[in-house]
Amino acid sequence: MSFDADAKMQLLYALRSHGVTEEPVLHAMERIDRGAFVNSYFPERAYDDVPLPIPCGQTISQPSVVGLMTQALKLTGREKVLEIGTGSGYQAAILSQLARRVYTVDRHRRLVAQAREVFDALDLANITAFTADGSFGLPDQAPFDRILVTAAAEDPPGPLLAQLRVGGIMVVPVGQSDAVQSLIRVTRTENGFEYDELRPVRFVPLVEGLAKDS
Ligand code: SAH
Repeated sequence: MSFDADAKMQLLYALRSHGVTEEPVLHAMERIDRGAFVNSYFPERAYDDVPLPIPCGQTISQPSVVGLMTQALKLTGREKVLEIGTGSGYQAAILSQLARRVYTVDRHRRLVAQAREVFDALDLANITAFTADGSFGLPDQAPFDRILVTAAAEDPPGPLLAQLRVGGIMVVPVGQSDAVQSLIRVTRTENGFEYDELRPVRFVPLVEGLAKDS
């Protein structure tokens, strides 16, 4: 199936029925073709609301989870955003439509290289992708208005909290990697951090260090 009118309608229906209701987020997900990020695995399922395998044993998230995480960031279009866990690059591409600048990092060099090719092909010029251990953030580009972690950590990593601007928001799945995790929203205030628990999710774990294939 290609990203034609029928595929878009089906995807938008699935997104709305899972609570993705903000029009700018829905428009971004209607503009960005998930098929371009799915690679050769299960191309016919690219527009279904399911996670799919990508190279290096990782997964591209379920579209409704991408939509809900994006909504949770409350983007206005002016933000500098850091994403940890580039994976296929799909989430970064959605963010690029709703924020000023997106930095994204992954510990697998191969995934970063593939995602860069798709960003170039789609002319998404406001995304910069790096191979790095995202647990340390990107100190050279900090502070960030928003941080989105798309791998599960046991706790929100300290260096990421430190790189969040006052007034900034971080969304991160927290919990053991083999159990259901909780999606947490952390807001940095003048005096500290406020935490909201959003919903149960299931992500691959945040792993220390660069991958061996990198
Ligand atoms: N956001 C992605 C899906 C991410 S899957 C998408 O839209 O397709 C989680 C990703 O986190 C994997 O690609 C994995 O390699 C990466 N990851 C895990 N631990 C990491 C770390 N410490 N630093 C950077 N990336 C990490």
